[in-house]
This record gives sequence, C-alpha cells and structure tokens, in this order.
Amino acid sequence: MTKIPIHPVTASRISSVDFNNIPFGRTFSDHMFTADYKDGAWGNYQIIPFGPFEVHPACLALHYGQSIFEGMKASKDKNGQPMLFRPELHAQRLNASARRLSMPEFPESDFVDAVEKLVGLEHEWIPPAEGSALYLRPLMFGNGEFIGVAPSDTYKFIIFTGPVGPYYPKPVRLIAEDQYVRAAIGGVGEAKAAGNYASSLLPAAKANASGYDQVMWMDAKEFKYIQEAGTMNLFFVIDGKLVTPETDGAILKGITRRTLIQIAQDKGIEVIEKRLPIDEVIEAYRAGKLEESFGSGTAAVVSHVSEITYRDLTMVLPPMEERKIGKMLKATIDGLRAGTIEDTNGWVRPIDKLERLSV
Ligand SMILES: *Cc1c(COP(=O)(O)O)cnc(C)c1O
Repeated sequence: MTKIPIHPVTASRISSVDFNNIPFGRTFSDHMFTADYKDGAWGNYQIIPFGPFEVHPACLALHYGQSIFEGMKASKDKNGQPMLFRPELHAQRLNASARRLSMPEFPESDFVDAVEKLVGLEHEWIPPAEGSALYLRPLMFGNGEFIGVAPSDTYKFIIFTGPVGPYYPKPVRLIAEDQYVRAAIGGVGEAKAAGNYASSLLPAAKANASGYDQVMWMDAKEFKYIQEAGTMNLFFVIDGKLVTPETDGAILKGITRRTLIQIAQDKGIEVIEKRLPIDEVIEAYRAGKLEESFGSGTAAVVSHVSEITYRDLTMVLPPMEERKIGKMLKATIDGLRAGTIEDTNGWVRPIDKLERLSV
C-alpha cells in the first residue's frame, strides 16, 4: 500500500451544512485525494483540503477532451458503519475508460486505498438518513501544457466527495431519439468520458422542451436498437423475463446494471442480454406483455419508466403498484447498503473511520 499523507483542514465546514436539505452536486466535503502522473508514473498521493487548483490555459483536457470520471457512493449501515459498494469495479472501469482515451491507468489497489482513506476521513459527511449517501467523484484529466492533438504527458487524478440527499426518483418519461446519437460502436460510448455528456446536452434539452424527462438513445446506424437513457442503463420486464440491451461497445457498462442482473438471476428470474430492437418492445406492449421498464445507475439505483415515446407511438406502462421486479431489485441493493440484507457476494466493503484529530 502506497502511503497517502493527510493534510487536514484546520476547521471543518460540516456544521454549515443542512443535512436535511442538500442541493444535489453543489455541496462538497472538507478534503480531496490528489495524485499526479509525471515521467511515466503516478505519484504525489495526498489528501488535502478541498478547493480549486490552477489550470494552465493550454491544459490539454480543456482543448481535446482527455477527461474521464467515475461516480460511486459511500453509505452507512444501520449501525453507522461506513461502507462502499463494489469499489474495485469502479477502479477497473476507470482504467477501461483510461485505455480508450490513451490515458495512463491508475493502480486499482491504490484507487481502493484512496477511496477508503478519504471516506474514512470524511465519515461524518455521510448523511445518516436512509437513501442518502456520500457521492464520490473520481476524475482524471490530461493537464499537459501544450497545444497539439497528442496524449498529454502529465495527468491529474482527484477524488472529491459531497453528501447527497435521499433520492426519490419520479417515474420518468422517455423519448426515443431519432436524430442525434450518443455513441456508435467503435466510439467512446463505453467510456465514462467527459465529452459524451457534452454531446448529450442538446438532445436532452430538446426532449425536455417536448415534455420528456430523458432521451432513450438508439443505435447510431439504424436507430432501431435500444441503447440506454441519460446516465442509466435500461431494463424491460417482458412476460416475466428481464431484458436489457447487451453491452456492445456503445453502451456504458453500468455497475448497477451488472449487480441487478446477478440479483435477478440469483432469484431465479430469467435475464436476457441481447441486441434489443424497439420493435420487440412495441410488440410486447401491444400484446400486453410489457410489464415494467426501469433505468439503473449509481445515483437512483432504479428509476422506473412510466412512458416511452417512439415516433408517433406513446407506450404507457403499467402503474407502480404492479411493478414487482424493479421494486424487488431496488430494495435488495438498498438492503445490502443498509446492512439489513446479508451480503453473500462480498459487494459491500466496510470502511474504518479515521478520527480527524489523530491524522
Ligand atoms: C454512469 C453511467 C451509467 C450507470 O452506471 P453505474 O455504474 O450503474 O452507475 C449508465 N449510463 C451512463 C451513460 C453512465 O454515465
């Protein structure tokens, strides 16, 4: 384990935060982890007070987009024990994104050490209310100081955190996008790369202006196969089976997706991962067999879908009372996080609290 020196804040900001009313993504905890890549190696690991840093005007990431991130959550179980959910998968996915963007991999065990130490130090920032969490944002970007379309020679990796309130997502209305695409096979759709989200803003605004919550992305070639929605993978319950688009290289490999698939299989539900044509969903809908649809992601775990519009057809899905599988899957992940369901898969990692005065 590489040593991570901690330079603690002199005064915590925690008393200024109203934990009953946390605006999403705008409140940040006291500390952040930082590391620098130089001369072919990562080093300079440290945990320092959270705050801005200087960026050179030629900073490569700003010009040519070498920027990738992760999103994960730390929670507390019913006894106040902090825990992380499958952090090693986030470390692996960060590195998969790094490889695609010609960025250096960050050692996976150092990633896990860093999140453990940071969460251990910031444990008081994990909101106690059920469904709340401390959101962690790992971010890597090329900070080389030259203008030229080439991989950066230096990189920064940081992890910062912020509390998020309980997430009670309303069922979402989706519209299948038939003009813009999120990702093509061979592109960067599988990476959590910054540019993917920039290019989604215009279609999302268009969808919002037409009264929809999110875009349902379709394949880039024929606009025929379902990909995913916004920042979540999509699932459909058709005739009792759980159906989801296969990860073909253009779809983000969600960790929640992977977890839900395994929970469903362990409960004896048949799971089908395949190229999923929208026509198949429409056919199921017309036959009265489209029972549920939901999105999966770290933030909401499960977001139920109430309506899907494709061209001039609007499919209105069954009411919430009839949604058994989506609800069961969400309750299972929530229960694992709260420690009320036994973790037989080793998904939940308890984190040692670090006492601020002793660091
Ligand atoms: C992060 C993300 C997801 C969900 O991934 P999780 O690992 O489950 O949080 C799905 N789609 C996109 C585009 C994403 O960025």
